[in-house]
Amino acid sequence: MVSKDLIEKIKQSVDIVELVSQYVSLQKVGSSYRGLCPFHAEKTPSFFVNPVLKLYHCFGCGASGDAIKFLQEIEHISFREALERLAKMVGVELKISMGRSEKDLYVEYLTRVFAEYRKQFKQNKVAVEYIAKRGFSENEANSYEFGFSPENSRIAQKVARSMSLPDEKALQYGLTKSGSGVDLFEGRLVIPIKDENGKIIAFAGRSLDDREPKYLNSLETKFFSKKSVLFMLDRAKKAIKSLDFAVICEGYFDAIAFHRAGVTNAVAVLGTSLTREHVSKLMPLSRNVILAFDNDRAGIKATLKSLKVLVEASFDVAVLKLPEKDPDETYRKRGADYLKKLLSEALPFENYLIEVYERFFDVTTSAGLEKYIGTLRGWAEILLRNKRMDRYERLVEAVSQKTRLSTSQVNEMFRLQVTPTTMASRSTLPTEDDYIVYLYITCEELRDKIDEIDPELFADKTRKLISFLREKRDLSELSPELKQYAFAVLAKIPEGDPWKVFSDLKKRFTRKAVERELSQIDSKLATCRDDEERGLLLKRRLELVSQLRSLGGDQSGT
Ligand SMILES: [Zn+2]
Repeated sequence: MVSKDLIEKIKQSVDIVELVSQYVSLQKVGSSYRGLCPFHAEKTPSFFVNPVLKLYHCFGCGASGDAIKFLQEIEHISFREALERLAKMVGVELKISMGRSEKDLYVEYLTRVFAEYRKQFKQNKVAVEYIAKRGFSENEANSYEFGFSPENSRIAQKVARSMSLPDEKALQYGLTKSGSGVDLFEGRLVIPIKDENGKIIAFAGRSLDDREPKYLNSLETKFFSKKSVLFMLDRAKKAIKSLDFAVICEGYFDAIAFHRAGVTNAVAVLGTSLTREHVSKLMPLSRNVILAFDNDRAGIKATLKSLKVLVEASFDVAVLKLPEKDPDETYRKRGADYLKKLLSEALPFENYLIEVYERFFDVTTSAGLEKYIGTLRGWAEILLRNKRMDRYERLVEAVSQKTRLSTSQVNEMFRLQVTPTTMASRSTLPTEDDYIVYLYITCEELRDKIDEIDPELFADKTRKLISFLREKRDLSELSPELKQYAFAVLAKIPEGDPWKVFSDLKKRFTRKAVERELSQIDSKLATCRDDEERGLLLKRRLELVSQLRSLGGDQSGT
């Protein structure tokens, strides 16, 4: 275990703005930083990072936390891993070993098994020839790390035993056939599947003869799920971020073909269409995607399904039109430049939809046209719901061209039954309490001064927040409501000279105190029968009124 103090020290040393900036582009607002939330789809930024609080907070989805939590969530890693990385980042040594997690053991096992597959590959003529036939040079074959599992080799089982892993454990790790101890991949070319941090978490096996299925994956485990892994993301993530788009294809050899062609921002799904889990991994890197699925019925179906997930998540998507069955074939037949040219000519998805659905419906008949519009209306609704007006208008335009309906006719048909969601976005001016909270957070030198103000003059929320801050407790333990409030304040108030802000504020709270006393005196006067006491009250009242005047406000109470 790592001590709480050490964790605190690491958290305090990390520049959370710098950390988050590696994933999200941030802009300064007030004393906070704002950007598009990496944890939910949005087009207007509601994600805030505050360097003083050392916290992030999203007003859209409620994601919130400190540097450790941020790294955990964005990299999909454990608390321990996140802490280790941050410690490294700020040069703090984590001396105490924290023991190995089960994932470490799992990864070590798969890595060792793969080392054997690699050895076998180099010695196996059939496998080497197969790869050469697909046009791989020796360098490329090394770079993309192919392995081979010979018949009856039982490598997975042998490695498990050498690591003293019980057979049941090895079975749970998804490489062996139940009971027999035989490798799932025997007789197959093996491709390692890595997580986004480059750790082997599964394998794919390609049959080298006519055995079915052509491709086989490791069984799903605690640490491997097809629907959340993007093949080659570990290699592609840097390029996806710097080029600000990702190419997504269907097969292992398609992703590899793009990389061979120099398109290093390509990844592949593992024989499924794109899921929300996949999308959440792309979100922090880029929100632009080119889909390059196979050019067949299954590929079109997968494209449509993936498009829906991406468009719902407000991604900008284009679709690649392939002359051959898949990117791998196109690369081998026509070369790198041609593949790159295809990318530059990818169709905006609304145009793709129009082309695809035209194949399904006969728009020259009124029944066909109705169905065609009805299908496209579903897409129009998604765009309207996500306020993607530019895309919506392009869809209307494209449908109009295809059908010879006018754009206003198409628009009318699309908007049938569509109830626009009106979101009242109120931007309220900061209150005096907001300023108090703001100063308390951003300017420690003023805290004593603020403490001199009668806390009874503050709202409940303000009092609670201040006492929390005064006790210097771990801010990530703030209640969600107070955290939300603190971030709202920090985003709302523009930066200025805190001392000047305070002197103005001090005046306003003095006024408040005077006004409060005045109303107390008035209620006493209403019932007071004692002449002497009345005189004293009236004298005090006069003093207060003149004090109010000198504070320069309205003349209430006179
Ligand atoms: Zn969010």
